[in-house]
Amino acid sequence: MATISENIQQLRGRIATACEQAGRPVQSVTLLVVSKTFPADAVREAFAAGEHRFGENYVQEGVAKIQALDELRARIEWHLIGPLQSNKTRVVAESFDWVHSVDRLKIAQRLSEQRPAHLPPLQVCLQVNISGEASKSGLSPDEAQDLAPQVAALPRLRLRGLMAIPEPASTLEAQREPHRALAQLLARLNQRGLALDTLSMGMSADMEAAILEGATLVRVGSAIFGARPPQPRQEG
Ligand SMILES: *Cc1c(COP(=O)(O)O)cnc(C)c1O
Repeated sequence: MATISENIQQLRGRIATACEQAGRPVQSVTLLVVSKTFPADAVREAFAAGEHRFGENYVQEGVAKIQALDELRARIEWHLIGPLQSNKTRVVAESFDWVHSVDRLKIAQRLSEQRPAHLPPLQVCLQVNISGEASKSGLSPDEAQDLAPQVAALPRLRLRGLMAIPEPASTLEAQREPHRALAQLLARLNQRGLALDTLSMGMSADMEAAILEGATLVRVGSAIFGARPPQPRQEG
């Protein structure tokens, strides 16, 4: 079995190839290593291989890992990428650097109010249900257009962009479609005066499609750490 470090090397190759095909500089795509369900030692290995940004889905698990890796806190950027309930906003505002899954004004307001004054503003993305799946969390594109200026105005948050988890598709062309729609939505928001620089899209299976459509941050777990055991559905 390949090591975490070997998988990261291989993944950097995939990112570089996709950037070349897209005619984009390789530095325009940031890798977020998704460490959900994997232990703190796996994060240490990826950190030793040169990765400094990690994504967690579940609040409790993420906070425990952040604490376990306290000696690296100043050198790791921690991103919450899973669903967030309003009763957990305080610990998130106190522990994480980024939240990708903002999908309600109330959550954004609480995060802004609860972000400690000694920390920089919390970096946030709005999560968009770009494939329109009934079962998926996230805003519709219209809702995102309404919410974005309101979130951008909150004092202790910095709205950076949009995040999506498109419906899985088997061909590159089909994978590109929802990623293109998210990129177009970001462009519309910027035309209306926002200054958003982040398109958080692309995972192990659809990273190339996302990069071709302008992803600036890809969230990759299983291609680095291997398959995850099946998880019961949890809410962050
Ligand atoms: C688990 C997860 C990922 C990573 O998925 P892989 O297929 O393991 O790369 C990315 N984004 C979100 C929101 C996730 O929950």
